[in-house]
Amino acid sequence: MPLTLSDIGWNDHFEQAFRAIAKEGWLPGRLIRETKINFSVLLDGGEELDAVVSGKLWHDAATDAELPAVGDWVAIDPGKPGDEPVIRAILPRLTQFSRKEPGKSSAEQVIGTNVDIVIVVTDPGPDFNPRRMERYLTLIRKSGASPVILLNKIDCYDKSDLDNAISCLRELSPEATVIPVSALTGKGIKELLKLVKPGVTLTVVGSSGVGKSTLVNSLLGEEWLWTGDVNKTTGKGRHTTVARELVILPKGGILIDNPGMREIQMWTDEHTLRESFADLTELAGLCKFADCSHGNDAGCAIRDAVHRGELSEERYLHFLNLEEEIRKLIQRQKKRQMNIERAQKREKKVQARNYEDRLDLERRQNPNRRSGH
Ligand code: GDP
Ligand code: ZN
Repeated sequence: MPLTLSDIGWNDHFEQAFRAIAKEGWLPGRLIRETKINFSVLLDGGEELDAVVSGKLWHDAATDAELPAVGDWVAIDPGKPGDEPVIRAILPRLTQFSRKEPGKSSAEQVIGTNVDIVIVVTDPGPDFNPRRMERYLTLIRKSGASPVILLNKIDCYDKSDLDNAISCLRELSPEATVIPVSALTGKGIKELLKLVKPGVTLTVVGSSGVGKSTLVNSLLGEEWLWTGDVNKTTGKGRHTTVARELVILPKGGILIDNPGMREIQMWTDEHTLRESFADLTELAGLCKFADCSHGNDAGCAIRDAVHRGELSEERYLHFLNLEEEIRKLIQRQKKRQMNIERAQKREKKVQARNYEDRLDLERRQNPNRRSGH
């Protein structure tokens, strides 16, 4: 059966937005891949189309964030036969994941849009970190998507570990769905599949080694294999649909899986980090002394809250380490940016060398023609 638009996430919101702007012959489509030169769009019926962005869309975009991103619904003008299809407009996004580009520029970069559910994978063991969970939840809330937290590898842990993790998550975020699973034995996967309905777009995030690939594979079914080749920037193996960042799952549901999404925990910037402790910062304003270190100082409102049992000891300790965490985060970001810049320089050098080689070859093949004329 061919794919319909609703199989790939189309709904009334997009239908109305499309009707309001579409000219005759325009088609709705969902952006599944972005390359340096063009965009691939999935159409009603499952046909894939390569399209370019209209000049007007380029010019009108005040920032890169207003250009098409993977997950976007767009209006396409197919033009006359033989014309290059053109993306005329982006339909208003329901949700949007973005990051500030690391390094000097403060430009916003959109990594994925119209994601309904973000699946955060962790375990009830060493990966479990309430602080990190809090950051994920803040980012997800900001994007507009709903969080689902998978406590994976339950075949390896005691019930008490699991219960602790669950009650901690309940405290952090009463509204988040928490599902204990084992990607290895398949336990709990049914529960997860109930959420992965046709037309629902999801993405999977979490630390490396926590079981994301194993889970994604079980969602994709057996016909999907992961290749052994390792992606340069993420260091991860990628599945065979490497070029396709948006994949339709066999049992329904749409998976957005790109390097940007996989690195989501790296996006956390200083601002987000501080923001997830906004309540404690506010509480700190009630301390007796303005320069309270929240240690042994008299009249410390934060320590009082711990004593009264309104604030967990753990979160309190994390708050005390906030500045240290921020320092580490900035260090990590700098290092990463340096690696990226180094890789770009190397790539440019290779390109320049290839260009020189080609000129050389041309000169040898056409000794009478001189360059520069
Ligand atoms: P990723 O880095 O998050 O993609 O993690 P992988 O899917 O590559 O899994 C890392 C390791 O954990 C692999 O050796 C998996 O076989 C193992 N693993 C994944 N899920 C489970 C699970 O539910 N139980 C156990 N015992 N091992 C698991
Ligand atoms: Zn204090």
